[in-house]
Amino acid sequence: MPRLLLLLPSTTYRTTAFVEAARRIGADLTVASERPSTLEVANPAGLLTLDFQHPERAADEALVFARQHPIDAVVGVDDDSAVIASFVAERLRLKGNPSPAALAARDKHRQRELLAAAHVPVPGFALHRLDGDPRELASKVVYPCVLKPLRLSASRGVIRADDPASFVGAHARLSSILAGCDPKFLVEDFVPGYEVALEGLLVNRRLHVLALFDKPDPLDGPFFEESIYVTPSSAPAGLQQAIAECAERATRALGLVEGPVHAELRYNDRGPWLIELAARPIGGRCSAVLRFGNGVTLEELILRHALGMPIPSLEREAVAAGVMMIPIPGAGVLQQVRGVAEAKAVAMVEDVQITAHPGERLVPFPEGSRYPGFIFARGARGATPAAVEAALREAHRRLEFVLA
Ligand code: ADP
Repeated sequence: MPRLLLLLPSTTYRTTAFVEAARRIGADLTVASERPSTLEVANPAGLLTLDFQHPERAADEALVFARQHPIDAVVGVDDDSAVIASFVAERLRLKGNPSPAALAARDKHRQRELLAAAHVPVPGFALHRLDGDPRELASKVVYPCVLKPLRLSASRGVIRADDPASFVGAHARLSSILAGCDPKFLVEDFVPGYEVALEGLLVNRRLHVLALFDKPDPLDGPFFEESIYVTPSSAPAGLQQAIAECAERATRALGLVEGPVHAELRYNDRGPWLIELAARPIGGRCSAVLRFGNGVTLEELILRHALGMPIPSLEREAVAAGVMMIPIPGAGVLQQVRGVAEAKAVAMVEDVQITAHPGERLVPFPEGSRYPGFIFARGARGATPAAVEAALREAHRRLEFVLA
């Protein structure tokens, strides 16, 4: 059996989906994490500790391991582990992205530079430092604008400002979010329009669109908390084509060649705009909404592709489906969630997963970014994306988060 090295940070939500996919395709699995497991001694081929802080060192460690237990593929699951995977793939001569491409995808400024140089439509941007005088900067930037950190994810710390006063406020909030971290941040032109998320798989430089999601809730700021994703998109076919081409040009500009891609794009009367492209699959538990061919999961596709195994179909099932990242209900300590059974009873709702646990402190945007849970809905044949969206909203209405 081929051996798969799966890079799973200890804090990820993705473990079950990937481990289950590895089991289904019959791969021998080695799970690498940044924290040593006490079970490593009992299962030396199955568990490995890698230095996730230092990709070069992690690649050296993987090479030593692979001499004992030859590895056929390496897969990361999020922004950071995708970078480690690229270094490991280079060192072990496995399928993967070149490390400079994975690094560029993770760094929002480097990404903007490469995309702009390749004439991919991106918002105007400039790099600044948080230790400068915010009032002086506020008097120079063009409004509306977006302040954003270079390395965070899930919209954490991304804030819109419409005038100098809100810029200074946003600057202060970002400074406290990034206290002790890299003080650099981006100021971008705010791009108005509709937003979509594209889930794709690069196979030998070609981008296959696995799903295009509409985001029906307006994302106009000042914070950009995600909520509903629903697919198929209702954008006209020509526009969907232009969106896919824009994303593929972005992968080329960054130098990405293989594996999963998740991109956020906006479109308006000037066409599509690339907001961000990541060399990883969709985050959180959202991937459960996607099924291909006869029920193959996204994780299974990713692992089959990495291992060079046949892929039955890259075609998503022919029904509408959607997920809601449940909005953070407020600041406070979660006591209980009521109405889960009632929410699950809504027609088309497939599952309601509450991931926050009682006693957990919920932190609203932009300082926080951990959604308290997910709602999944899938239509029968013929059900519209709008009906799926309505089911998600109805299920959400039935939930009650009790905070202390
Ligand atoms: P993250 O990686 O933290 O999700 P993004 O750069 O993708 O950060 O920004 C998060 C969200 O903020 C985007 O999905 C979009 O809704 C909004 N956003 C970011 N930059 C812009 C921009 N320049 N114009 C309009 N909206 C933006």
